Amino acid sequence: MAIQRTMSSRESAGLRHTLRTPINHMIGYAELLLEDPRLPAGSEPHLARVLAAAQQTLTIVQTHLTGAESEEQTVDFHRLRSDLEECVVAVLRTATELESIETGDRLSDVRRIRSAAQELLTLAGGALPVGSAMLPQSDPADHRDIPARIIARFLIVDDSEQSREILCRLLERQGHTCITVSSGKQALEVLEEQHFDLVLPDLMMPGMNGLETLRAIKSNSKFGDLAVVMLSAFDEVDEIGKSLEAGAEDYLLKPFDRIVLNARLHAILERKRLRNLERRRTLELELADAELRRSNEELRRFASVVSHDLQEPLRMVTSYMQLLQRDLGPHLTENQTQYLNFAIDGGRRMSELIQDLLSYSRVSAVEPQRELVDFNEVIKDVRIHLRTAIAESGASVISSDLPKMTADGSQVRQLFQNLVSNAIKYRSEKPPVIKISAKHVDGDWLFSVADNGLGIDPENRQRIFEMFSRIHDRSVPGTGIGLAICQRVVERLGGRIWVESTPGEGSTFYFTIPG
Ligand code: ADP
Repeated sequence: MAIQRTMSSRESAGLRHTLRTPINHMIGYAELLLEDPRLPAGSEPHLARVLAAAQQTLTIVQTHLTGAESEEQTVDFHRLRSDLEECVVAVLRTATELESIETGDRLSDVRRIRSAAQELLTLAGGALPVGSAMLPQSDPADHRDIPARIIARFLIVDDSEQSREILCRLLERQGHTCITVSSGKQALEVLEEQHFDLVLPDLMMPGMNGLETLRAIKSNSKFGDLAVVMLSAFDEVDEIGKSLEAGAEDYLLKPFDRIVLNARLHAILERKRLRNLERRRTLELELADAELRRSNEELRRFASVVSHDLQEPLRMVTSYMQLLQRDLGPHLTENQTQYLNFAIDGGRRMSELIQDLLSYSRVSAVEPQRELVDFNEVIKDVRIHLRTAIAESGASVISSDLPKMTADGSQVRQLFQNLVSNAIKYRSEKPPVIKISAKHVDGDWLFSVADNGLGIDPENRQRIFEMFSRIHDRSVPGTGIGLAICQRVVERLGGRIWVESTPGEGSTFYFTIPG
């Protein structure tokens, strides 16, 4: 019996596509099961048979339904059906045998193969007079449904009532909500009023087609970045390509395969959820950053105002104390002299603290100057500034030939001054020897200030750069701000600072400056 029919290339492509979907599932699941490292003994030959038979069905479909693309072709449906049946029945039989070997999620995959084989026959039956004798009973528990975990609101746009109905039911079975409309124009009206997670327009519609609907959605800023997935009856590559170019998220081919539909929609909704999450996180980061900048600025202003305002009354207190000390000096008891000394010393320390706070807030607030700085001159200035401390401690400050480079001269002076003065302050019994040098490493200048002082324990080497952090004897004067200033200066120049040290032998402070 020869049942021959003439088909246009478009019809043939549609049928080819329809039949290929379950075939791809058979092949896909068989390959997955074969590649699975948990493959049970005895399964492999069965799976290899399933795979070979499934691949054979693909060859049959390609052979019978591949005519010249532009021409009509005559298809022998009887041959097509019987060729297919032979292979599909082999798949079904082997899948049934496999069901007695496999368990758990592998068993579910075997059932998926069986369902796909069954569907291939059923689908073919829509176009071909399929003999039903060999069809196995359909499985009451349909294992093909993979629940979509994200529940969403869909707008289905399709002129075919039946298509709308099918898709809507498929989606509602997964717990989604659907609204259906029959034209692009209606879709745009509904979108003005209601919120949707995803719009599903059919590509081929009379009047405003799917592509035009998509373009109208994408050009309307009110809809934001609403995701659109195109529905297409045939593999119309051109139209699908244009839709993707116009901003469609994806496309789905009719008739819908529930596995593919659920998996794709789930992937799209998941992408959308991740995009929203990322956008929210970026916004939160921007807000946090703005807040941080605002509070830094406030802190800087506070520090600067407070420091200036405190400076003046403090100077009065200290100078009047000194006047008292001078005028009453001979008449004061030993205790009273000591009290006055404590008060004057307290005032001096407070003044230092205010000075350091001011320096820190200045370094933080003011954009560093960009000028050519001769670092050898900087060290000369530092030596002059610290001459008393150097002389009193008998320190030697040795510097090698240092570079000239673009930096902020006064900030760099402060940086070296703090490091050299610390090397003197935290000296050991030995007279301090301080060596300053620089070398060019990987495009950066690496500076070092090495001393032979007390050294720093490993656990404190990070901490000392924090504000107010002091680790040595409090009898050494200091505010714990000096190194925080150094770190700030270096970071503002785009470098980093750290210390290496051997307790009892000395420390070397390193910092880099790009250039
Ligand atoms: P300050 O010297 O005012 O206390 P710094 O911020 O300059 O504050 O230094 C923080 C702490 O780091 C110091 O109190 C000291 O304990 C330690 N320190 C800094 N420089 C050295 C050094 N060259 N050798 C040993 N310890 C140091």
